[in-house]
Amino acid sequence: MARTARRHVVMWSGGITSWAVAHLVAQRYGTENLTLLFADTRYEDEDLYRWNREASVQIGVPLTVVADGRTPWQVFRDKRYIGNTRIAPCSQLLKQAPCRDWLIEHTDPAHTTVYVGIDWTETHRVPAIVRNYQPWTAEAPLTEPPYRDKEEWLAEARTLGLAPPRLYELGWVHNNCGGRCIKGGQAQWAHLLKVFPDRYAEVEAEENDLRRTLGADVAFLRDRRGGTTKPLPLTVLRRRIEGGDTSVDTDDWGGCGCLPDPEITAPPPDQTQTFQLQEAPDQMPGALPYLAPDPAGYAPALDGDGFAWLRRVLPPPAPQGCPRCGQPMRLPAIALLWQCSRCDIRQEEAA
Ligand code: SF4
Repeated sequence: MARTARRHVVMWSGGITSWAVAHLVAQRYGTENLTLLFADTRYEDEDLYRWNREASVQIGVPLTVVADGRTPWQVFRDKRYIGNTRIAPCSQLLKQAPCRDWLIEHTDPAHTTVYVGIDWTETHRVPAIVRNYQPWTAEAPLTEPPYRDKEEWLAEARTLGLAPPRLYELGWVHNNCGGRCIKGGQAQWAHLLKVFPDRYAEVEAEENDLRRTLGADVAFLRDRRGGTTKPLPLTVLRRRIEGGDTSVDTDDWGGCGCLPDPEITAPPPDQTQTFQLQEAPDQMPGALPYLAPDPAGYAPALDGDGFAWLRRVLPPPAPQGCPRCGQPMRLPAIALLWQCSRCDIRQEEAA
């Protein structure tokens, strides 16, 4: 009986590590059953597309491109939520979902291995990635020996005649979303302001526009000065940088890594609805140690059962009949269970 050939699908982000993975997989298994799957956010650096063309020619496999069609900020507007390092609807909807849809439509999980471009510095992420890709098999070849870092892979690409994506030359550590990933930290945004001021201005305008629309003090960066945590809009960060403020954290680059983990999580909460929190714990900057949100911010929302608003908007419930006597039952002041005063009294009398 003929054996089904194994399919190899590389999650191609446009970064150097996804090229390195594709390069290794092509060396190991050839290119006949190799797919390079690229989710286009329509928000990439223009040089990423040049790199994609040249690198895919070098590997010998044309890219397979999927796209939702929106940009990250269009997603944020649609979802009424500014993505951040903890919840990134842009990553979920523009990368993970289109790639998963493609896998479902075009592959047999039993005969397909998916490859992701995380390297040995992120080995701790492998178990979650393997789990989240099930029923497909997932591998991360760069987490295995021989260990090489990004600089070595960039050098390898140059040796093979490829000019790496320009964002690396310009000082970025990734080639995602044109150097303006919302998971990036203050250092990334300070760098963007210096290298691509127009691009910074564009994101600043997007953020301000959405803040106005939502009518809420939200931002994807966090300001942790003075022992408190609050949103740090790009306008404020820019003014600090331009004013020579030394408190700007130039070591906080944050990170992206939004493609490898395919788990589609619940849709983001509406930042302006449900509970008006003074501080939403979702708005955390990248690469900062996790700090638990101050529960004091939730106290008013969690006071009582927290669902009094639901009782106000719903019609009163129709009384249920007592299963014993058939008379309508009533809800006591604390409306947990229906009670029948008649039968309760009879029970007391019987007791
Ligand atoms: S790179 Fe950043 S901004 Fe772009 S889709 Fe991923 S998480 Fe969102």
